[in-house]
Amino acid sequence: MPHVVIGGGILGVSAAYSLIKNGQDVVLIDENHSGKATSAGAGIICPWISSVQDPDWYELAKRGALYYPELIDSLAYDGEQETGYGKTGAIAVSKDKNELNRIEEVARKKKQETEFVGEIKRLNSEQAKDLFPPLNKNLSAVYVSGGARVDGRLLTNAMRSAFEKLGGQVMEGKARLIAQNGQIAAVETQDDRIEAESVIVAAGAWSNELLSPLGLSLSLDVQRGQIVHLKVDEDTSKWPVVLPQTSHYMVAFNDSRIAFGATRETGSGFAYRMTAGGIQEVLNEGLDVAPGLHDATLGEVRIGFRPMSSDKKPLLGKSKKYENLVIATGLGASGLTIGPYAGKVAGQLAVNEKVDIELEAYNPFR
Ligand code: FAD
Repeated sequence: MPHVVIGGGILGVSAAYSLIKNGQDVVLIDENHSGKATSAGAGIICPWISSVQDPDWYELAKRGALYYPELIDSLAYDGEQETGYGKTGAIAVSKDKNELNRIEEVARKKKQETEFVGEIKRLNSEQAKDLFPPLNKNLSAVYVSGGARVDGRLLTNAMRSAFEKLGGQVMEGKARLIAQNGQIAAVETQDDRIEAESVIVAAGAWSNELLSPLGLSLSLDVQRGQIVHLKVDEDTSKWPVVLPQTSHYMVAFNDSRIAFGATRETGSGFAYRMTAGGIQEVLNEGLDVAPGLHDATLGEVRIGFRPMSSDKKPLLGKSKKYENLVIATGLGASGLTIGPYAGKVAGQLAVNEKVDIELEAYNPFR
């Protein structure tokens, strides 16, 4: 019987890919909702200068960032080169020297633990503008070379393509869980029924819809994010991620594209629409930090529903009630960082393999 993974975002696809690499029989089911978070995510992978202070969050985010090079190598081995991953470095920017001192100190502490943080440098405004030309001339920066970015769509497509090449089966549609005798016996879609060895629920913000008929409930909310993509006539492939000290940021990609993000609309529900206030917010914040982008072309607006747990920590572990059920969601605003690693862990839990991390803090029913 196959292992069934429900959810074709970064987390579910990573779980499916790691299971198939582990020689398992795997079926991936995805409903492809509008607002899939992975398709809207900005792509910052830089826990080194993040303002989040929770050590449990940091542990997963760090492991997520460290796992990327291994994953990218594995995908290259499977013939997938176009992952959208780039170790471009990142700059934390501010007008306030004390704030930058604090960020630098935190980054140096993290570097004592992992070399991956890379080079840490203070930049004056001119040096910062050399790296990210449209930047506001009043901002100085802390640069870390270990910051990276990823295009969530490209990476997920690459993992899914490798998964299929290795014999994995992908089904489109809405999955439903069928429980029997303390197990998830099968997963049904409109047209099929699959008897399951194990089931991984990685259905993002929609996970409770799947679990509630079984009497299970996660402390999970949906948070809409609106993000604007701008086009410029320059090569932006080497521009670092820009992190002002707010919840807004900028991420440049290989195709002369820069994402300005993002709104954090807790309690938005699944309203898949852009709002006047949301777009105003991201453009105002973004252009304040990078006024040089005033004349950039407004490309598109992406909308995604972040799966937010109530304490902002991932929900990752096995169910006690159904012993072959693995829950993997709640990645919130950091899912492109944590998702590939969390998917690998979920795959290991599905086959009862020992994992290299203590999972108690992430217990999905805590
Ligand atoms: P999703 O990508 O939402 O995937 C869930 C999938 O499950 C969907 O395809 C859905 O259709 C499917 N599904 C649901 N129910 C069913 C069902 N019954 N049957 C079958 N399929 C089902 N993270 C970072 O690390 N860095 C960032 O810079 C960053 N920026 C972000 C910016 C924005 C605007 C947003 C919205 C998010 C951002 N994130 C970022 C967070 C990250 O994108 C998410 O945490 C991550 O993508 C969640 O992935 P997921 O696979 O859990 O969920």
